[in-house]
Amino acid sequence: MDTTNCFLCDLKFENVKDYQESGLNIIITCRNCGQYVIHKEIIQLLSKNDFQNKKFILSGLIREYTDEHFEPFEITQSVIDDLIPHVSVPSDLFEQMDKILMYLYKQTTYKGKLIEIMDVEYAIAYAKNIEEFRFLLAKLIELNYIETEKDKYRLSLEGWKRISEIKKINRKSDQCFIAMWFPKDNSMVPFEVGAKLALKKTGHIPFVVKDFEHNDKICDKIIAEIRKSAFMIADFTGHRNNVYFEAGYAKGLGIPVVFTCRDTDFEKIKEQFDTRQYSHIKWTDSEDLEKKLLNRIEATISIR
Ligand SMILES: [Zn+2]
Repeated sequence: MDTTNCFLCDLKFENVKDYQESGLNIIITCRNCGQYVIHKEIIQLLSKNDFQNKKFILSGLIREYTDEHFEPFEITQSVIDDLIPHVSVPSDLFEQMDKILMYLYKQTTYKGKLIEIMDVEYAIAYAKNIEEFRFLLAKLIELNYIETEKDKYRLSLEGWKRISEIKKINRKSDQCFIAMWFPKDNSMVPFEVGAKLALKKTGHIPFVVKDFEHNDKICDKIIAEIRKSAFMIADFTGHRNNVYFEAGYAKGLGIPVVFTCRDTDFEKIKEQFDTRQYSHIKWTDSEDLEKKLLNRIEATISIR
C-alpha cells in the first residue's frame, strides 16, 4: 500500500505523522484523529457507502481516547457494529464548542497558557471538516470564551466560567443505575463485581436497589433513582421483567442504557424478547465484564 492518507478523515500525507504496518494491522498516527490500529479487512468496511457519514464519529472518538490514554485505539469489528451506534456525539454546536473548551482545559498546565490548535484537528469537536471547525472556533472567540494569538488559543475568563459549569453538569450525574436479577444463589455475583469495578474506574457511583432498604414505596424510589442517573447498565441474564421495565423507562427519558447479558443466556433473549436491536455486551465472568464495560462507558458516556 503506497497511500498514507488517514483512513478515517482522508487527511493527506503531510498530516499523517506516522504509518506502520505490522502483519495485517496498520498503525496510523493522524494529526486529526489521533492514533489507531486497524486491520486491513476493516479498512474495506470503512470505505462502504453507508459508513461514509459515520467516519467523523470514529475520528472524534479516537481523538478523545488518544488524548486521554496516550495509546492507540484498536478499531475492531465490534467497534464498528456495537460501539459506533452508541457514541454520545455532540448534538449541537454548543456541545461541539464545549468539546473545544474541554480540550483546551485539559491541555492547560497553567492559567493563561496558549495552546496550539490547527485547523486540521477538527476531530476535537466532532466536526465534519476544517470549515466547520473554523466556524466553531470563530464563534468561541466571538462569544469571548477563548482568546487567540496566531494558531494558539487559551481560555478567557468566560471560558473558565463555562468549564466550571460543564464540570458541575457532569458532576450531578455521577450515578449509574444497575438493573439486574437478584437470584437467591450467588450466580449474579460476578456481574455485580465486574460492573462495580468498571464504574469505580470511570468515576461513577453505582445504585443497586438491593443495597438499599426495601419498603412498599420501592417503585417510587426506583423511578426517582433512574431519573437521577447519568446512565443505566441493564443486565438481561435471567430475563427478569423488572429489568425490561427499568430499561424501557430509562430509554423513554433519554437516559443511555448499556445492555449486558451473560453469554450463555443470550440466545434465550433472542427467543423471548425483542431487545435485539440494541447491541448487548456478552460476558463470561467478572473480569471479562469489567473490561468490556470499561471500554463501552469510556467511549459512550461522558465521564467528566
Ligand atoms: Zn485522520
